Amino acid sequence: MASYEYETHEYDVVVVGAGGSGLRATLGMAEQGLRTACVTKVFPTRSHTVAAQGGIAASLGNMGPDSWQWHLYDTVKGSDWLGDTDAMEYLAREAPKAVYELEHYGVPFSRTEEGKIYQRPFGGHTTEFGEGPPVQRTCAAADRTGHAILHTLYGQSLKHNAEFYIEYFAIDLIMSEDGVCQGVVCWKLDDGTIHVFTAKMVVLATGGYGRSYFSATSAHTCTGDGGGMVARQGLALQDMEFVQFHPTGIYGSGCLITEGARGEGGYLTNSEGERFMERYAPTYKDLASRDVVSRCITMEIREGRGVGPEKDHMFLHLDHLPPEALHERLPGISESARIFAGVDVTKEPIPILPTVHYNMGGIPTNYWGEVLNPTAKDQDAVVPGLMAVGEAGCASVHGANRLGSNSLIDLVVFGRAAAIRAGEVVDAATAVPSANKASIDKALDRFDATRFAKGTVATADLRLEMQKTMQADAAVFRTDKTLAEGLEKMISIAGKLDDVKVTDHSLVWNSDLMETLELGNLMPNALATIAGAEARKESRGAHAHEDYPDRDDANWRKHTISRVDGNKVELSYRDVHIDPLTTQAEGGIDLKRIAPKARVY
Ligand SMILES: Cc1cc2nc3c(=O)[nH]c(=O)nc-3n(C[C@H](O)[C@H](O)[C@H](O)COP(=O)(O)OP(=O)(O)OC[C@H]3O[C@@H](n4cnc5c(N)ncnc54)[C@H](O)[C@@H]3O)c2cc1C
Repeated sequence: MASYEYETHEYDVVVVGAGGSGLRATLGMAEQGLRTACVTKVFPTRSHTVAAQGGIAASLGNMGPDSWQWHLYDTVKGSDWLGDTDAMEYLAREAPKAVYELEHYGVPFSRTEEGKIYQRPFGGHTTEFGEGPPVQRTCAAADRTGHAILHTLYGQSLKHNAEFYIEYFAIDLIMSEDGVCQGVVCWKLDDGTIHVFTAKMVVLATGGYGRSYFSATSAHTCTGDGGGMVARQGLALQDMEFVQFHPTGIYGSGCLITEGARGEGGYLTNSEGERFMERYAPTYKDLASRDVVSRCITMEIREGRGVGPEKDHMFLHLDHLPPEALHERLPGISESARIFAGVDVTKEPIPILPTVHYNMGGIPTNYWGEVLNPTAKDQDAVVPGLMAVGEAGCASVHGANRLGSNSLIDLVVFGRAAAIRAGEVVDAATAVPSANKASIDKALDRFDATRFAKGTVATADLRLEMQKTMQADAAVFRTDKTLAEGLEKMISIAGKLDDVKVTDHSLVWNSDLMETLELGNLMPNALATIAGAEARKESRGAHAHEDYPDRDDANWRKHTISRVDGNKVELSYRDVHIDPLTTQAEGGIDLKRIAPKARVY
């Protein structure tokens, strides 16, 4: 057994992750006087949320009529009828409140002439239950919305005396014999010490796992650590096959050009100079939802109408927009286009290609952020002491496809909900229970085994193999053949984790060890993604299966639950929550409005 000395810390709540969701949860917990620690592997304001450009959806109605019922309808349709209706209603209803809170905390939103929060159009957001024109629902701080939110929430959390443990890497959860989460074991990156945090509630806010793919808009730190930790405890992941490709990653680098660019009037063209989206989505054109636009681009390229010497990408035009508007509303992306594509957006189009952007799947939760461990007896059984919020979680409000600007609102609505719920279930007056020693030892043994791993495969090589396989075989379009081959490859690649080699055995700033631990987290996420995709014999949202081009509600309107053990995946299914929180008589949505139908834009 590995022997490591460790320092212990006791809190009411430990939040792992300091992105938008982790900080909103931390702030909400601390505001209520719960003793709260936030543990993060990167400095809070360097979390991936800082890169969010376009904005945050809420039906404020500042630019024209809007309602939470319209927002709910758009989210249900965007999810391709896979989201849980209770959670989606909670999101749409609470969104305005959560945004006004952000405003009062100090987020410097862009403003209208009258001084209200500025809102822009975004894909899939409409009026009149999809029958009216696009709505301006996405609140923005220029094209640096995530940046503004993150800095504000960090400041507010400090003000309320939340304690931050920065550059601490969470290795594994501590679980009691009877399945209660009791804390988390961490490695302090800058001095190599080990820290055991025990708490009455642990909140995983570790973000997505975009880096399981070769080309992704997400930061290199987005390695699905929360999903990895959960999988290692035999707990579930949900709907992992739904991976969003953003239509406009910069060709080559994958760096994101926000959908706000199309919201502000940008449009796509093919090699014939044609605005091809008008053909595929006559009503909403370039503002159809992301899965739709990504598929249209891929089809245009396949049919030989791509641009460039290899005819393998498309153009995004902003050159017709007034330079002042670009300067005011999209300064960040003008800079990205110059640096990463060498393009002056006022004169030339930007070369773009669909790029992995968001994970709809994650750790299953209810709409309070409580983690679910679905069993045959109870599909909605809660894991005591454990919550998950943000991209790491799956509430599920995005179902099979997320609408643009619905993630930032998910972060703050469910970060806030988790804090409200913790206020009810965590008793600040009691002592923190002592943690299961065997569970701590198990985490340290795994850490030690990784540190001294003497296999034959370098971490970077194995990671690349995984990324290329996922990119090729779990792509925008999928077939029985690519998925079956991809799954087989991924089973073999995941098996090679046991044969990895770590050359640096030190404990201080050991990036070799950290990247190997991260790879160990990416792997179960990737494996669950391709296994879930292989099993799902239909097309829905981001899962476009060429052998089964239609959505099949009779057989497949259900959540995929995957449990990963090493390189084995066990799949089961969980019912979609169809009932909203409120009836029409109580002011809720007319159920007929959200009944499944064909999804056209
Ligand atoms: C380029 C880009 C632009 C986007 N633009 C928009 C937009 O305009 N609107 C929108 O709605 N959505 C947007 N999204 C999506 C949205 O920004 C993300 O889904 C969201 O920011 C994720 O936030 P999070 O709180 O879940 O996690 P993140 O912001 O990813 O933060 C994860 C946190 O977890 C910590 N962490 C992870 N693992 C560990 C570990 N093992 N130990 C300790 N700490 C750990 C990290 O340090 C970090 O603090 C965008 C995404 C990208 C990539």
